[in-house]
Amino acid sequence: MRRSGPWSADGFPGILVLNLFLLAVLQPAAVRRAAAAEAGPALQIAVGFDGSCPHDPAGVKREGPNRFRILPSWRPSVGIDEEAVGRSTRLGFQVVNSTRNAAPVDLLIDWQYDEAPPKDRPSFASIEEFMSYRNFVVVRWPGSDQWRTLMADVDGSVARVEFEAPPGTTEVHWHPPYNYAQSEQFVDSLRGHPLVKIEKIGHSPEKRNLWLLRITDASPRTKKGFLIRARVHAYESASSYAMEGMVEWLLSGDAYAAAALRQYEFHVIPMANPDGVHNGLGSLTAPQGVNLSSIPYQPDAASLPLKEAVDRARPAVAIDLHNWQNKHTDGLLGLDPAIRERFERFMPDQLGFGKQWAIRDPQPLPEKTPEKELLRHYCERNFQATVVTFEFPWFGRTPQDMRGTGRTALWALLRALDPPPEGLR
Ligand SMILES: [Zn+2]
Repeated sequence: MRRSGPWSADGFPGILVLNLFLLAVLQPAAVRRAAAAEAGPALQIAVGFDGSCPHDPAGVKREGPNRFRILPSWRPSVGIDEEAVGRSTRLGFQVVNSTRNAAPVDLLIDWQYDEAPPKDRPSFASIEEFMSYRNFVVVRWPGSDQWRTLMADVDGSVARVEFEAPPGTTEVHWHPPYNYAQSEQFVDSLRGHPLVKIEKIGHSPEKRNLWLLRITDASPRTKKGFLIRARVHAYESASSYAMEGMVEWLLSGDAYAAAALRQYEFHVIPMANPDGVHNGLGSLTAPQGVNLSSIPYQPDAASLPLKEAVDRARPAVAIDLHNWQNKHTDGLLGLDPAIRERFERFMPDQLGFGKQWAIRDPQPLPEKTPEKELLRHYCERNFQATVVTFEFPWFGRTPQDMRGTGRTALWALLRALDPPPEGLR
């Protein structure tokens, strides 16, 4: 990250000191004060961009020239659930160094665990457990496209991160982000593809696009519906990358992908909650908004386009993509044990990423239809679908790893659903 040349850290201060000396000697005090004000502090924290959290400068407190307290659970109005004080599952901001030299920055990321209102108290055994998922950040240095993990020093619910901020803009997030603009770009990249139909199924309450990608081959045979839903929960950027990996694989020309496109019509909802994603929320559509993981039978405005898309897909198979904060386990939830056992042979514990499967087998559906139910239950009840919820957490994975994880998971599920015939050929 060190620069060399005329503005290197070694060469520059000498010139600066000389200039400051001349400035002090030759200019009146008023001019000196104006010059200092114009220069401003060397480091700024930038927020308010697509996907930032906090989403307003009110969530950032300057505590020294290079020291800032960051409040990830700052919201523009009182929030509930993961938007309540002390419950945030989101973090993303920029350290902007407008000088020509690296400068030390001291970040106190205050997750405010003890300030959570009693009814919204996080369901963790202790503050230590809560913070064990928050004892790191990922950073992307100016000009780089790689995310690097920096471990934090934890004291109470504050994760302290210190580093030398190079000149330019350094991104600091809890996890590699995937914002609304990235989703729009991904959808755009598929326009004109012969195997993809892009449909706008509606818009979010703040008028962002809700897309459906329909992917199948040109065969006139009747296809079974296969639903893939990503990003109902705003912070779960892994689900977006896993979805990209699934779509890219389906379009790759791979033999098993081609076979799947002959058998199924894939209905992909790439970003179910664009408002929550853009506004830097944890899980909901707004600070007191909707949790889209359930499908209501009498849908609200935010849920209606999604429910209609699911009803139209009539899925025989569905994947609900999530990422929980647990560092060490991937979630394999709700898959029928006979299929799940076959699935695990094709996608065993992802030990290379430090993950083992955490398995939750399906429970019988409640007999009486509730007012709303998880996508999983909704598709089982209404379409007798085979449904799985995946939870793919970040720690130890890059965005490219996450695309690969999605690709493997879809391939393994298709393999699990397609047992070989008896006998050898
Ligand atoms: Zn989730």
